[in-house]
Amino acid sequence: MVYPEPWCMPRLFASGIAEFYERFYANKGVNIIKGTVATGFTASSSGEVKEVKLKDGRVLEADLVVVGVGGRPLTSLFKGQVEEEKGGIKTDSSFKSNVPNVYAVGDVATFPLKLYDELRRVEHVDHARKSAEQAVKAIKAAEDGKTVEEYDYLPYFYSRSFDPSWQFYGDNVGDTVLFGDNNPASSKPKFGTYWIKGGKVIGAFLEGGTPEENKAIAKVARVQPPVENVDQLAKEGLSFASKI
Ligand SMILES: Cc1cc2nc3c(=O)[nH]c(=O)nc-3n(C[C@H](O)[C@H](O)[C@H](O)COP(=O)(O)OP(=O)(O)OC[C@H]3O[C@@H](n4cnc5c(N)ncnc54)[C@H](O)[C@@H]3O)c2cc1C
Repeated sequence: MVYPEPWCMPRLFASGIAEFYERFYANKGVNIIKGTVATGFTASSSGEVKEVKLKDGRVLEADLVVVGVGGRPLTSLFKGQVEEEKGGIKTDSSFKSNVPNVYAVGDVATFPLKLYDELRRVEHVDHARKSAEQAVKAIKAAEDGKTVEEYDYLPYFYSRSFDPSWQFYGDNVGDTVLFGDNNPASSKPKFGTYWIKGGKVIGAFLEGGTPEENKAIAKVARVQPPVENVDQLAKEGLSFASKI
């Protein structure tokens, strides 16, 4: 596994979170190479991949390559026809674009995220479903001469890969506090991270949580409780969320 950053998924993961997954997969025999990128492949005469060439000069043997180098919304079809913002189609909170009867939902929509008073795009299946639902409700309401409640989305991401399973809610900016057991050798590792900004917890991540525990961290991200003592928060860990 090759990536240029100092740890995996740095756009979301703090280093303490990434350390767990890197060690988990390294223990399963995955060779992780950081700080460089793939620059090309060598193929056999029949066109099958044989090697991956890295920018730092190393060459890796390979018989299968999975390329995951990011993506961005495809908006070229709409260039000059709809208003764009932050790489997506700008919408209001009903996912209406500036062109009558044209709506944008999911990854491609740059919409007003009420909780942070900011225009954002959210790339996640939960938002794709909910934004589509909001747009349909708004269209139906407009036909009936009614209005809909403003979209008030709490950013939510999750993933599962074999045993590990995590959820994240809120915003991942500010200082981080790691809590719990992030040792991949433990029989049931459970750990998390809070993000603190302006003296409040604004984001929360949990690996290995039960449905109730995941609900508790979601509530923390929504309520944004104040934090007086960061060391105390690290000690309390998940029980801080359960009290909110
Ligand atoms: C590798 C990867 C892993 C991911 N993992 C997770 C995960 O673990 N959990 C999670 O919640 N989310 C995950 N996501 C994100 C999630 O897949 C997206 O947020 C979600 O699919 C967005 O839905 P969407 O309907 O906005 O866009 P898409 O699902 O991308 O659908 C857009 C569709 O439009 C089609 N299209 C494009 N141009 C045209 C055109 N001109 N005419 C007609 N059709 C067109 C495309 O072919 C595509 O089918 C992952 C994404 C990737 C790439």
